[in-house]
Amino acid sequence: ADDLALLEGEAAAEAGEPGGAPLPVLAVVGRPNVGKSTLVNRILGRRQAVVEDKPGVTRDRVSYPAEWAGRNFTLVDTGGWEVDVLGIDARVAEQAEVAISLADAVLFVVDATVGPTATDERVVRLLRKSGKPVVLCANKVDGPRVEADATELWSLGLGEPHPVSALHGRGTGDLLDAAMKALPQVSQHGTAIPAGGPRRVALVGRPNVGKSSLLNKIIGAERVVVDDVAGTTRDPVDELVQLKGKTWWFVDTAGIRRRVHQSQGADFYASLRTQAAIEKSEVAVVLLDASTKLTEQDTRVISQAIEAGRAIVLAYNKWDLMDEDRRPFLEREIEQDLVQVQWAPRVNLSAKTGWHAERLVPAIERALASWETRIPTGRLNAFLGELVAAHPHPLRGGKQPRILFATQASTSPPRFVIFASGFLEAGYRRFIERRLRETFGFEGTPIEISVRVRE
Ligand code: GDP
Ligand code: GDP
Repeated sequence: ADDLALLEGEAAAEAGEPGGAPLPVLAVVGRPNVGKSTLVNRILGRRQAVVEDKPGVTRDRVSYPAEWAGRNFTLVDTGGWEVDVLGIDARVAEQAEVAISLADAVLFVVDATVGPTATDERVVRLLRKSGKPVVLCANKVDGPRVEADATELWSLGLGEPHPVSALHGRGTGDLLDAAMKALPQVSQHGTAIPAGGPRRVALVGRPNVGKSSLLNKIIGAERVVVDDVAGTTRDPVDELVQLKGKTWWFVDTAGIRRRVHQSQGADFYASLRTQAAIEKSEVAVVLLDASTKLTEQDTRVISQAIEAGRAIVLAYNKWDLMDEDRRPFLEREIEQDLVQVQWAPRVNLSAKTGWHAERLVPAIERALASWETRIPTGRLNAFLGELVAAHPHPLRGGKQPRILFATQASTSPPRFVIFASGFLEAGYRRFIERRLRETFGFEGTPIEISVRVRE
């Protein structure tokens, strides 16, 4: 029994209890051309050739797993935005604002050879307002000759400028050391969630799918202005709404209300907004347009929600425009393109007419209940014992890994750790997941299964 307690402890530690504590987030912010992408490439290293250098290429990721001096963190990259020359100031500021809201600490990049510009100053004001720790990177200090330029950046009032050459790597180690000092051990996004407070919902989906229409429909006349929910600081971009006698917290609604028209980089910007909203939420309502073909952008949003481990509800909007001829295609998309979220509840609705809008809240509640489900260890092992007896792992090279013990290490989302005598094939892990879902439900939540090999 002591052994089991030990294993359970180990499993919980691995899953990062409580609730799988999220990694701290470091955002790289600055105006275009100061060298953000170059710096991000340098931080991520060569093994991750993810940052595209070609102009006009839409990046589909905004955050990357990164590591420095044995610490893991999430790096949010805002480089590669194609910003129009007109209104550049406002755009940079707005984009920086989103990135800052996502971050636990900010790496603010300035071009030391140019010195502080009006746009830089504008971002500085946002940084001050946010109160987040900032590490100032004086980039393009390729040699000692330019070092004097870096000292000029003390004038920004953000403390010591760190002279760096992102291009050649000079000074980046010291910069990252400083960034690690500024970064908390655990992301504040996760820990700021007050237990027992209103549930936090993100409405996400590609532009024009109907997020703002749905928000307006939901809120209608019901908008409540509650300024102090006990012990919480509420962003002005969020909205508290009374629905079915309960208060719901719709996060990052400003991004939905404020229409951003950007010819270029709009995709990427939308992606960043989505990420910000998902990070702040417990459940993501992903809107899809029932009247048109599923797009790559749709599946990308879904992947973002899954990767973040949030509860998920799929809302097929614009059902009033749904042509019966499209139905078979829709079914096929659900079976093929949405196979990774077969488990998510689907609600067909119309934000325009309000048809079925009332079905959203019950679906959200079901998904959240699954998200927080905990299977007692005894029950889990009884289930696995039966399953393995009936369907043993296939023999490979005369060997057959045995499942020794399993435990649910955390909830939100449910994470399971299986201790086995050998590696379990991906197909078998998927089989276990399927059976777990059949037996215990888990409608609307991703679940994670990891395997630890034990002799
Ligand atoms: P971003 O728009 O902020 O992401 O900037 P990029 O990373 O795309 O860099 C803009 C330009 O500055 C590119 O031509 C880079 O090669 C160049 N650059 C970036 N970092 C440095 C540096 O440390 N030194 C020099 N000399 N050029 C750099
Ligand atoms: P957002 O960019 O996701 O916030 O999308 P909007 O809410 O601004 O909606 C984009 C367009 O789709 C607008 O013209 C809406 O009137 C329209 N729209 C939204 N929901 C529906 C719906 O359920 N049915 C129909 N017919 N149109 C809708």
